[in-house]
Amino acid sequence: MKRPQPRALLLDMDGLLFHGDRPLPGARRLLDRLKTTPHAFITNNPIRTPEQVADAFAAMGLPRPDPERIITSALATARWLAHVRPGFRYFAVGAGGLDAALRSVGTPDAEQADMVVVGEGPGLDFEQLTTGINLILGRGARLVATNPDTAVDGIRDGRHLVLPGGGALVAPFAAATGVTPTFVGKPEPLLYEMSLEILDCTPGECMMVGDRPDTDIAGAERLGMWTALVRTGRFAPSRPWIEGMPPPDYDLTNLDDLVEALDRDFPRLLV
Ligand SMILES: [Mg+2]
Repeated sequence: MKRPQPRALLLDMDGLLFHGDRPLPGARRLLDRLKTTPHAFITNNPIRTPEQVADAFAAMGLPRPDPERIITSALATARWLAHVRPGFRYFAVGAGGLDAALRSVGTPDAEQADMVVVGEGPGLDFEQLTTGINLILGRGARLVATNPDTAVDGIRDGRHLVLPGGGALVAPFAAATGVTPTFVGKPEPLLYEMSLEILDCTPGECMMVGDRPDTDIAGAERLGMWTALVRTGRFAPSRPWIEGMPPPDYDLTNLDDLVEALDRDFPRLLV
């Protein structure tokens, strides 16, 4: 089926616009040209609040986005929970961004939670695991994870290292209970669907731009969105496309190539 032309952009952040605290080439050029383009920034990382993410843009010398345009997996999780169980009670494991998002729509309650919500970041210990498992088995609480990433890139003391992601942290709860978690982040549809709702567009009117075929591109493709892979992150320019996966609409080396491709094919999309 022929899709309409894209009129909105969904942008991944880490690996696309920056690596850690270093902006990637072309990031400023793209951001400067989004002034009238409906767009949002989405991330599977539930740790930082939208305000903190916006501040990080500014600290790197990039234009500071409106925090309303930053949609984290924590925010999408909170919004989805409020939709499926208004006034929900929860037991959460994860960092500040998740707590901030959940507190605005639910009530923390380690005794009578109906949702066990697992995010990312330090803190998971034997006691928390025990509490969560018993809420699931004893009270029938639902197990929800902000994002399915098993491992994520991090920087500690200036050194790159791999950290356990939401998918790894929810795994012990799933193993102990035999319950399959509900995942909110990419490539699952919930984070995209919330973003499309905020941008008020259909999947076919929106282009997802990201650096990971298995999450950014695969999830967007399944919903029928336009897709652009920019090979500045996990997926190096030399790697052949993954067999059996539908290729993205655009397969690009960097953000400058993205701007040029958009100007060529959709001249009214960017200012
Ligand atoms: Mg990325």
